[in-house]
Formats: sequence, C-alpha cells, structure tokens
Amino acid sequence: MLTNEIRARLIQLAGEARQWAYAPYSNYRVGAAALTSSGRFFTGCNVENASYPNGLCAERVAVFKAVSEGEREFLAIAVVTGNGGTPCGACRQVLAEFGLDTMVLIADAEGNLKQEARLSELLPGAFGPGDLGK
Ligand SMILES: [Zn+2]
Repeated sequence: MLTNEIRARLIQLAGEARQWAYAPYSNYRVGAAALTSSGRFFTGCNVENASYPNGLCAERVAVFKAVSEGEREFLAIAVVTGNGGTPCGACRQVLAEFGLDTMVLIADAEGNLKQEARLSELLPGAFGPGDLGK
C-alpha cells in the first residue's frame, strides 16, 4: 500500500522532472517518477522530436531508465502535467509488461492528485506477457 509520504514524494519528483521536458512542438510538458519494488525512484520527462513519431513520453522514459538499470517491478508511477492528463495508451501498455498492479498517480502542475488507479483499471483486458506464454 502506498503511504501519503510516498505519494507526495512521487508527485514531487515527477513535478521536478517535468522542468526538463523537451516539448517545443506540443508545449505539453510531462514529468514522471516511478518507484520500483527495490525502493528506487526513476524519473523521466517527455522528449519530442522534429520528426514527431520519434519522441517519447515521460512515463516510458522513466520505465526504460529503470529497466535499463535492472529493475523489473514497479510499485507506482506518478505523472504530472499542466492539467492532470492521463498516461497515453502506449505508456499503459509498456507499464502492463511489468505488472498490472502498479499504482498510477495522476497530478497537475500544482501537485494536486487528480486520480489514483491501479494499472489494471486503466488498461482492462490488457495484452501481456501471459498471452505469449511468459
Ligand atoms: Zn505515453
């Protein structure tokens, strides 16, 4: 179970990471912070590109940073945007790869928690490793 202290820490870290967002095209700045089961925090921001499809969302930056350092289990991830926007479908799918129990905290730029949901609620009927026998 997430404590309020951990919730606040995740939202704070995601908000801080948001300052590094590279979003000159959409101006939609996003920060994310993931907490792994080993207790480590990984942050990310969205990184856009002049060749639009080559950009990456903040959530996936954070998850890939964690996985690239040996992490495979996520307890929670916080996402901070200007208006409390929710993770896109691609990010939900990437999170699903590592477990449907991950808690997703969605907050606005002022740090207000707008929504908290288990990934299984955000991506019902997810296609996952089990569908490929893993
Ligand atoms: Zn996304």
